[in-house]
Amino acid sequence: MAPRSSSRNSSSRNFADLAAHSLVERLTPESIVLQPLGAVEAHGPHLPLNTDLVLASALSAAAVAAHGNALDLWDLPALAYTKSNEHAWAPGTIWLSAQTMLAVLDDLGRGIAMTAARTLVFVNGHGGNSALLQMACRDLRLKYGLRTFLLHPWMATDEGNELGMGIHAGHDETSLMMHVRPDLVDISKAVRRVPEQLAQNKHVKFGGSVSFGWLSNDVDGPVEPGTLPLGVIGDPTGANAESGACSFLRIVEAMGEQLDEVRHFDPRVR
Ligand SMILES: [Zn+2]
Repeated sequence: MAPRSSSRNSSSRNFADLAAHSLVERLTPESIVLQPLGAVEAHGPHLPLNTDLVLASALSAAAVAAHGNALDLWDLPALAYTKSNEHAWAPGTIWLSAQTMLAVLDDLGRGIAMTAARTLVFVNGHGGNSALLQMACRDLRLKYGLRTFLLHPWMATDEGNELGMGIHAGHDETSLMMHVRPDLVDISKAVRRVPEQLAQNKHVKFGGSVSFGWLSNDVDGPVEPGTLPLGVIGDPTGANAESGACSFLRIVEAMGEQLDEVRHFDPRVR
């Protein structure tokens, strides 16, 4: 990281820390603006509602701290509420409809198009946003001429005993939270909930060639009256802060590579 100059305002790469008049001086057509997207949604009994918000914000900020000067990155305030209706059954989940969220992203694109920056990258911390963010990338490209990208800092892997289904409140996400905000994690409440039979399917499974509309309580089945479904899809029981710290470093390094390609991306035939 470059040494801080005497004025905080002149060294910050937090977009919203700048005065409008400094923004005009500091943003150029090469600048890359990052929009972290979180969620406020049920994350099982062991993780807080703001898990995706905490992680998307922390990773975006760390990527800007590590690579911001080299790649001319700018960090926007995270969007806290997004499209979390797979967890609509849970009190505490506060979600935007697809229509509302597309409208919000359109307004965001209009705002970014007012600056000199031509590149907007969604740093998505909530898987439920993916399809909609892909749509928004195209819509903002067409409407405002922005170069738009969607970056998922972490994805479920086939490794370990999650069978590729660690998609919500599982090992990796829980470990990352134990690294970033251990005070918000109660690992004693972590429970494994993996629909193993789906791993036998050739096509219809998480990440398979046939996708399906799912709600996070689908994997729980009926529950006793007066109790909440777990809403966990994965196995957080072995999560730990060391694993989270390694993942965090690896992700921030990968984001440097990804954003470097974004910076030089040019689809024109040569
Ligand atoms: Zn999450």
